[in-house]
Amino acid sequence: MDKKIAFIGAGSMAESIIGGLIADELLPPHHILAVNHSNEARLTHLQENYGIRTFSDSADAAQEADIVMLAVKPKQLGDALHAAASGLTEDKIIMSVLAGIKTSQIENELPGNHPVIRVMPNTSAKVGQSATALAGGSYAKEQHVQAASELFSSIGTAVVVKEKDMNTVTGIAGSGPAYFYYFAEAMEQAAAASGLPEDKARDLIIQTMYGAAVRMRESDQSSAALYQEVRSPGGTTEAAFREMEKHDLQKSFKQSVQAAISRAAALG
Ligand code: NAD
Repeated sequence: MDKKIAFIGAGSMAESIIGGLIADELLPPHHILAVNHSNEARLTHLQENYGIRTFSDSADAAQEADIVMLAVKPKQLGDALHAAASGLTEDKIIMSVLAGIKTSQIENELPGNHPVIRVMPNTSAKVGQSATALAGGSYAKEQHVQAASELFSSIGTAVVVKEKDMNTVTGIAGSGPAYFYYFAEAMEQAAAASGLPEDKARDLIIQTMYGAAVRMRESDQSSAALYQEVRSPGGTTEAAFREMEKHDLQKSFKQSVQAAISRAAALG
């Protein structure tokens, strides 16, 4: 990618993205710029570990960049935009990973018609495996969305959605890793109760989740067809499903995901 990107806010999400960009060689380190308010140590860390360039002034970094990535906490948005404002001309693509902040909120904070892309990565970004959704604002054109898609594909999978679907995405992919950890915990507990050593159970559960994910990605069968395949009559999986169905686990889990989606809508 022949662009320079400036991170406004260089915390843990910024580092995940920077790590992915460098590992993927999508951008050379000197095309990655970072500013971090009141935490010089973060910048030193990023400079030493990734060879990127650091700035003390947000407007200077924004001015030199083609893409400005907002990666501060949502409540720090106003201050961050204010500090970068003089460098934020309309030719810059503004990308925001701020949870719950609409593209219109950013557009309204700035004079002019800025292309803004709202991005929702998840915590698996830390290991380059984020399920990221992104949506363009009122002034974002196809090429701006494309640039964001290319960039976030370096830390996993990027899917373009309509902005109205961002809450749904948050309930599925944003909170999603926690659901799988929760099921993993229940499997660990069941294994421990049957006397399997913790480290062996952990290894097997991790590979089971990973293998199921890869199988699902490589298969064109539905989720239902894939679990039916394992669920042979009279077998062990069938015994587990009978117990889950007794408690209507699928319905209760569906309601739980819907609660996350409603909560995202209330926060946004
Ligand atoms: P963080 O607190 O680790 O990083 C934010 C950084 O921004 C801090 O280092 C802070 O010093 C700096 N900062 C604050 N105000 C600034 C300013 N005016 N100018 C420059 N720098 C400033 O937070 P994080 O976990 O990296 O999250 C950043 C954003 O990413 C949040 O808005 C969050 O909603 C979003 N997000 C995070 C995750 C995640 O998994 N961590 C997932 C999805 C979305």
